[in-house]
Amino acid sequence: MAHRRRRPRERTLRESSSYSCDWCHENVEIPIDWSAGGEQEMVEDCPICCRPNVIHVELDEDGALRVWAARE
Ligand SMILES: [Zn+2]
Repeated sequence: MAHRRRRPRERTLRESSSYSCDWCHENVEIPIDWSAGGEQEMVEDCPICCRPNVIHVELDEDGALRVWAARE
């Protein structure tokens, strides 16, 4: 009987990601703090245009990371 190796599902949690500023459309790199959970919302000032973005971070069931920004 053949043994099947079961691989634990690996989740690569990236430590940073980037969003596109909703004001100036520049790409901004942000660190992600996973201790805050897989679903986050935070307000960050864009380092390029200094206007506030509400950053949404979401980790879906497949482990895919979605990061997007909206105007505050
Ligand atoms: Zn900006």
